[in-house]
Amino acid sequence: MVLFRVRLYLIPFTSNGADLVLFEHSGGSQVLADALLNNVKVKPVYYHRVTAIKEVQGDDYQSMLLTADRRDDPRIVNDTFERKYSNVICTLPLSVIRTVDLEDTYLSIGQRNALRELLYSPSVKVGIQFKTPWWEELGIFGGQSHTDRPARSVVYPSYGPGVGGGAKSNVLIASYNGMQDSQRLGALMKGRDSSEEKILLNLIMNDLAAIHNVPIEKIWEQYVDYYAWDWYSSSFSLGQHSCLYHSYLSLTLSLLF
Ligand SMILES: Cc1cc2nc3c(=O)[nH]c(=O)nc-3n(C[C@H](O)[C@H](O)[C@H](O)COP(=O)(O)OP(=O)(O)OC[C@H]3O[C@@H](n4cnc5c(N)ncnc54)[C@H](O)[C@@H]3O)c2cc1C
Repeated sequence: MVLFRVRLYLIPFTSNGADLVLFEHSGGSQVLADALLNNVKVKPVYYHRVTAIKEVQGDDYQSMLLTADRRDDPRIVNDTFERKYSNVICTLPLSVIRTVDLEDTYLSIGQRNALRELLYSPSVKVGIQFKTPWWEELGIFGGQSHTDRPARSVVYPSYGPGVGGGAKSNVLIASYNGMQDSQRLGALMKGRDSSEEKILLNLIMNDLAAIHNVPIEKIWEQYVDYYAWDWYSSSFSLGQHSCLYHSYLSLTLSLLF
C-alpha cells in the first residue's frame, strides 16, 4: 500500500493538469472496499484488536498464537480471543505493530529496526458543516485553497446534496493539515466541548474568514457543527502514512522484505 501511495500521491502534485485524466469511484472509495468484502469467502471479524503474535514453542515453532482484545465490542461475551494459526499475514500499519507484543516471534535485527524507525507523518482534518455553502457565492465549486495559516488547506465539496439552495454539500474540510502544524492542531483535539477544542474551532473559523476575506461574524452565522480527527492520536493508525522520502523508504523496505 505504501508503494501504491507513492505513485498516486505524485500524480496530482507533479502534473500540470494538461494531460491528466483522473477516474473516481461513484459513491466514494468505500465502494471498492464494500465490493471486495462482498467477494471474500471468509469475512473479516470486527472488534478483535490484536495485542500479541507468538511462535508456539510447544508446536516446534510451526504455529502462531494470535491474541486479540475484544473489549471494544459492545456485545462482549468474553474479552480475550486466542487462536492458533499455521501462518499469520500481518497488515497492520507498522506504527501499530510497534504496540503488538512480538517478543516471541522471530524477527531479524534489521526488521525490528525498520519497525521502530519508519516515520509516519501526522495528519488532522477538521470538518465544519454550514447552513449554506457560502463559498459558492465567491465562485468556489470544489477544489482546494492553501494557506500558511494553521488550517493550511481547505477542501471544498465536489458533491451534493446541495441543501439550502447550494449546488454542492454544505460541509467543508475546513482544515486538512500535515506535519508540524497538524501536531499543533492535534494537541487541541481534547474532545467535544473541551476548552482546547473551542480554541481549535475559533482558530479554524478565523482562518476561514481571513482566507476568503469574509467577515468572521458572517461565517459564525452560517455555522452548524464540526468534527475533528487526528490520525496520530487514533490507536488504529498512530499516524497518517509512512513518510515518502525515497532513501529512507527504500532502506526500511529493504530491511523488511
Ligand atoms: C488523512 C489521510 C489521507 C490520505 N491520503 C492518501 C492519498 O491521497 N493517496 C494515497 O494513496 N494514500 C493516502 N493515505 C494513506 C492510505 O490511506 C494508507 O496508505 C492506506 O490506507 C494503508 O493501507 P493499509 O491496508 O496498509 O492500512 P490501513 O488502511 O490503515 O488498514 C489497517 C487496518 O488495521 C486495523 N487495525 C489497526 N490496529 C489493529 C489491531 N491492533 N488489531 C486489529 N486490527 C487493527 C485498522 O482498523 C485498519 O482497518 C491517506 C491516509 C490518511 C490518514
